[in-house]
Amino acid sequence: MPSATLDCPECGRPLVNSRFDATFRLADRSERLCFGVPAGLCGTCHQLYIDPELIELLGLDAGRCVFAIESDVVLQARAGSGTE
Ligand SMILES: [Zn+2]
Repeated sequence: MPSATLDCPECGRPLVNSRFDATFRLADRSERLCFGVPAGLCGTCHQLYIDPELIELLGLDAGRCVFAIESDVVLQARAGSGTE
């Protein structure tokens, strides 16, 4: 089971592993919002990489990620621990 930091397939830089709120556009052109999806983001390419197994699990294998933002939960946790 790969738990090590993954590198971006495009530029080879390490991905930022976090949880993201992401919008996917499905094959029937509807959109689906998923909260707190664990994924890796390349800050250079601005590309989100999600585990293919998870994509399949969510039924998004025909979908395309059109928008992703780091989840509020993560940001709040970071803000809470950073204000000490
Ligand atoms: Zn990249």
